[in-house]
Amino acid sequence: MKLSELFCKESLSLSFEVFPPKTDTAFESVRLATEEIAALRPSFMSVTYGAGGGTSKYTLDIARNIKESYGVPTLAHLTCVSSTRETVRERIRDMIDSGIENVMALRGDIPEEKLGEDRTGWHYRHAVDLINELSESGHGFCIGAACYPEVHPESADQREDIKYLKEKVDAGCSFLTTQMFFDNNLLYNFLYKIREAGITVPVIPGIMPITNGKQIERAIKLSGSFMPQRFKSLVDKFGDNPLAMKQAGIAYATDQIIDLFANGIKNVHVYSMNKPDVARAIQNNLSDIITK
Ligand code: FAD
Repeated sequence: MKLSELFCKESLSLSFEVFPPKTDTAFESVRLATEEIAALRPSFMSVTYGAGGGTSKYTLDIARNIKESYGVPTLAHLTCVSSTRETVRERIRDMIDSGIENVMALRGDIPEEKLGEDRTGWHYRHAVDLINELSESGHGFCIGAACYPEVHPESADQREDIKYLKEKVDAGCSFLTTQMFFDNNLLYNFLYKIREAGITVPVIPGIMPITNGKQIERAIKLSGSFMPQRFKSLVDKFGDNPLAMKQAGIAYATDQIIDLFANGIKNVHVYSMNKPDVARAIQNNLSDIITK
């Protein structure tokens, strides 16, 4: 199923994100975790792409397994920045062979050793280059892209970020998924600005349940997200108590999701990080709200 069809529905739903294993030995445990999440019957599941593409095969293996065994629509991520045109075209062929219909087209983070390089000769400098490549494949992929309510860290300002976001949409992307955020007002403000800029495709907010103290520092460092005082207080109080932090983090994420639904959002994407217990707890908290 193409996700563009799903986003036309009026019902309220959750989707979950999982990541592929880094090694053969980890494959089985990741497969089991992703199957447990698929058994919750989310509206779709996304499978991330390892930075640099070393685990690209696993992204497709996990996505295909979820779709074939549970009938859950999948979204396979693909990055391009450190790849040659030949490699990306090979990955696109692999996706077609695996029956992938939905692709999240990403630039990816630039590897540290390449940060100082002259980028003029690179085949893919931005996600828009990959969106063009996917569109030109003629396969009719439903293409998604990333967006940043708090501005991508490399952008000079939000106006510039939104200008390039519009380029991605104009190149053929049918929906956007946001970076995590902990203050819904940042999303509402961002939505207002992108709608004003003429971006009309569905925007799927990405919510990260913070369930342990260590995860917080890493998540904030990666995303640069603003931590509202309400969230900081919760982390200060419960960060050193794993069970309490998990419960509080799930409650905070649930609260964010309810507010999003109450304000007109129909699908929320949960960064469930291969944790079936977290995905299940959030879904249970919303059992009478989600209408599928
Ligand atoms: P782009 O859209 O190319 O934007 C990157 C920067 O370049 C921005 O500052 C933008 O304003 C600017 N820019 C864009 N187009 C142009 C242009 N034409 N000219 C000049 N400047 C331009 N990483 C992974 O490795 N694997 C994953 O699976 C993965 N999944 C993700 C899912 C989501 C929902 C999100 C939000 C991020 C994900 N990432 C993933 C991280 C992502 O790869 C990084 O955030 C990366 O730094 C930017 O990727 P992008 O596709 O947003 O890049």
